[in-house]
Amino acid sequence: MDLTLSQVELRFQQHVHDFLDAELKPEWRGVSDIDNRTQPAIMAQWQAVLAEKGWLTAGWPVANGGLGWSPMQHHIFKEACSKARAPKISTMSIGMIGPLICAFGTPAQQAFYLPRIVNGADIWCQGFSEPGSGSDLASLKTTARREGDAYVVSGQKIWTTYAHLASQMFCLVRTDVGAVQKQAGISMLLMDMALPGITVRPIHTIDGEHHFNEVFFDDVRVPITCLLGGEHQGWDVARALLAFERSGIADVVATRQLLNDVAAIAAGEPRGTSSLLDDDDFANRLTKMEIALDSLEIYELRVMEAAERGAAKDFDASILKILGSELKQKIHMLGIEALGTLAAVWPDGDAPAHPSGAGRKLVVDALFFRAGSIYGGANEIQRNIVAKSLLKSGSEI
Ligand SMILES: Cc1cc2nc3c(=O)[nH]c(=O)nc-3n(C[C@H](O)[C@H](O)[C@H](O)COP(=O)(O)OP(=O)(O)OC[C@H]3O[C@@H](n4cnc5c(N)ncnc54)[C@H](O)[C@@H]3O)c2cc1C
Repeated sequence: MDLTLSQVELRFQQHVHDFLDAELKPEWRGVSDIDNRTQPAIMAQWQAVLAEKGWLTAGWPVANGGLGWSPMQHHIFKEACSKARAPKISTMSIGMIGPLICAFGTPAQQAFYLPRIVNGADIWCQGFSEPGSGSDLASLKTTARREGDAYVVSGQKIWTTYAHLASQMFCLVRTDVGAVQKQAGISMLLMDMALPGITVRPIHTIDGEHHFNEVFFDDVRVPITCLLGGEHQGWDVARALLAFERSGIADVVATRQLLNDVAAIAAGEPRGTSSLLDDDDFANRLTKMEIALDSLEIYELRVMEAAERGAAKDFDASILKILGSELKQKIHMLGIEALGTLAAVWPDGDAPAHPSGAGRKLVVDALFFRAGSIYGGANEIQRNIVAKSLLKSGSEI
């Protein structure tokens, strides 16, 4: 594929840069992915600016407010936002449940939920994993039995990111406990987190933050109008959603920013008369990671372009997830090596700030992102998916 920008694309790129220069407040710049989780207000303000411009939902179907951008336009936009250090936008709301409601929602569901996603009235969380049902998601045990005009939900979810902030959950439940095939008896419910019978308990992570939770359901009555897709059809809905989630995890532009941060840290580390960046071994490893990132970027663009033609392979999202998450973890480790003893001091301690200013963010990011090869479906499972697809079809990547 030709990666040279056309005149139209160059003009679009300039337009995006001008917009960011004008609209992105200095205090919003540099709010990292991690900080976004603790500063939802900044994310919401930035999303409002993008919504006003019509760019928040650029990737949605045109009928639902999308802009029909080409894969390259999406890439240009993401790259410009990353370079300008704009706050991230909510993957869960804008990147996952929004497109899913566009694809599977009834007209009434689309009319109710989509505007609330765009104007930030709702924050969403994903209720899939349960104790004992993570990789083997189809074994989930939370039940929803039909009683009149409601499903009565009982059970437990775990590792639910944002459940403590969310007003809505998209939740997988078992509606047919007798189904022979375990995938067959599952449905997806859009659940108001204020419903009586829902309890959220925090789980703290190694980075010291509160990202995720346990969620308990004690006979929660969810109106049947909140069923997304058909009854017992939830597995197909979930599969569509997981593909959005996995491809997003590759996040090439953010990883490039991370790579640049690592280079900046190394440039500030004296080595003899020069810096760590000029050390042969370090420079060699950094360059190899840069090359790997370049190839991942091209692969991601190829997948986006194929998806637009309806020609993406079902394992593409898994490959992007594996390569993207593992490369990012390697870059994090190189950054920690470059920080040296500064990385060993807990972020809120009295350590002198690293000259590049990137130290604290990198350590917190690196600790959190150990989870990048687990969430969205563990990488071992993704490797199984890729292997099964290739062996079954006998095709080449
Ligand atoms: C930071 C973070 C955020 C998360 N957010 C959410 C969320 O918002 N909503 C949600 O629903 N879930 C969320 N999860 C849960 C996540 O999806 C699960 O952790 C993941 O699917 C793995 O499931 P598990 O933890 O039960 O591990 P298990 O399934 O118990 O797996 C444990 C280990 O065994 C390996 N393994 C299991 N089965 C096989 C197999 N067949 N072949 C080879 N290896 C195998 C796995 O790869 C893994 O290494 C989050 C997880 C993390 C870490």
